[in-house]
Amino acid sequence: MRRELKVQLEGILENQSLARAIAAAYAAEMDPTVDELTEIKTAVSEAFSNAALHGYGGNEDEKVKKPVYMEFSQIAPETLMIKVADEGTGIEDIAKAMEPMFTTDTDRNRSGMGFTVMETFMDSIGVSTRVGEGTEVRLVKTIRQK
Ligand code: ATP
Ligand code: MG
Repeated sequence: MRRELKVQLEGILENQSLARAIAAAYAAEMDPTVDELTEIKTAVSEAFSNAALHGYGGNEDEKVKKPVYMEFSQIAPETLMIKVADEGTGIEDIAKAMEPMFTTDTDRNRSGMGFTVMETFMDSIGVSTRVGEGTEVRLVKTIRQK
């Protein structure tokens, strides 16, 4: 793999814009269109907010470690893979979680569209998860338009 970038951020919502900016900086070197860059930033931002919000369940205890790992790689000259992983709660039913408008977080008025946005903006998305251990989301996109 070439051009690998590994980043660890604290899984708090305050870091969402930093996660977005890092994704943009990495992807920009592949010369995407403005639209493609926006799509990549938005997908990463959704994956990051899920890790921070759902993975760590809004846990405010400062002693609880909340790492979110992001890994960027260029798996082909025009293809980008981004992994976003947390060590949080995990997802009990992935198929259900990925349905449009499904959310477990009705209190905070989430719309349940994060996974749908990731699926729409990226070419493929994979999710591995274990209840009580965490979740990894893999996003892949080929830059097509120049
Ligand atoms: P929105 O993204 O529109 O604000 P949402 O986050 O609830 O709302 P999705 O991003 O589609 O919607 O996620 C759907 C559900 O999947 C979440 O409500 C949550 O239950 C679960 N989920 C998603 N990511 C994680 C994660 N990293 N750890 C634990 N649960 C997750
Ligand atoms: Mg979400």
